[in-house]
Amino acid sequence: MIYLDHNATTPIDGRVLDAMLPFLKMFYGNPSSLYRHGRIVRSAIDTARGQLAAVCDADASQLIFTSGGTEANNLALATLAPQSPFAISAIEHPSITEPAQHLKGMGHALTIIDVDADGLVTEEAIDKLIPQQPGLVSIMLANNETGVIQNIEHITGRLKASNITVHTDAVQALGKIPLSFRRLGVDLMSLSSHKIYGPKGCGALVFSKSMPIKPLLRGGGQEQGLRAGTENVAAIVGFGKAAELARAELAERNGRLLRLRQMLEQGLGSIPGLAVFAGHTNRLPNTVQFGIHGVDGEMLLMKLDRKGIAVSSGSACASSGGKPSPVLSAMGITDEQAKTAIRISFGEMNTEAEVFEFINILSVLVNQA
Ligand code: PLP
Repeated sequence: MIYLDHNATTPIDGRVLDAMLPFLKMFYGNPSSLYRHGRIVRSAIDTARGQLAAVCDADASQLIFTSGGTEANNLALATLAPQSPFAISAIEHPSITEPAQHLKGMGHALTIIDVDADGLVTEEAIDKLIPQQPGLVSIMLANNETGVIQNIEHITGRLKASNITVHTDAVQALGKIPLSFRRLGVDLMSLSSHKIYGPKGCGALVFSKSMPIKPLLRGGGQEQGLRAGTENVAAIVGFGKAAELARAELAERNGRLLRLRQMLEQGLGSIPGLAVFAGHTNRLPNTVQFGIHGVDGEMLLMKLDRKGIAVSSGSACASSGGKPSPVLSAMGITDEQAKTAIRISFGEMNTEAEVFEFINILSVLVNQA
């Protein structure tokens, strides 16, 4: 199989698995236990917290582990004060849009922040938002479909000058581009392990010390009392190791992914009627989303699957009832064009030979269509 869907999930790195195994086999103690067997486990969690804090330039005390990016996003939105208005961008992941709609149903006024044709939040949108004094604004750092990277540092600077709390979903940015919680200036930031060659079911919320986090889970007081439940120790250890590797190898990974992306985009240029979405915008080095005029994205996905190639399409059919991607719609892309979308997201294991093979197979399939 040629796996080209790393924004959906990544395979676990062998070094990550090696780091995790002792905590599944040997060190099974409860990290809250006071005896030595428990303290060893507690110390492994502390190490992982430090590794994750280092990769995103935060203090370890500002970071709690969650069950994934989805929980971190839900937890961030839960900080909203009762009846406070809030805003999210038009291109957020469902783990923001769904809890946002739920909050709206509970009486919070919700503003959707428009993006332009390049998928970027505009200065005008922020100008309009500030006088509304929302209690929280959530804008993702890098989009999972298009790979478009927002200038969060600049946007946050403007919002923070008006004392507005800012959250960013950095799930897709982590491990692909340099990430600094401090420099971004946000109050809350969500991360996920399985996008960086760590295990699934683990994530983190990074928060500034002044943020009043309202726990979704109450119980045994774990994670500073902000996220109760016995820690998923092996996964946390794995997330920490994956973060350490991402930090050490970032420059090399970034350069390699960018070369693959450029090679792909050059090859795609020879396919008639093909357009890369947000093609001229600052994007993640591993992500290319394109559409071919008149070629249905889901049909093409299935044909590629039969050739042993795994890609993603723009319309999450099962969850959206066949509707085209809201991200592309927000960028002003017509439904007809959005239904042609195919997303390629490279990862560590992909090779130049795979890129060539993909382009060749795609060209043949498109000619047959
Ligand atoms: N945010 C973004 C941008 C994502 O791409 C994803 C996963 O696809 C999530 C959040 C959810 O993360 P998790 O799968 O860890 O719950």
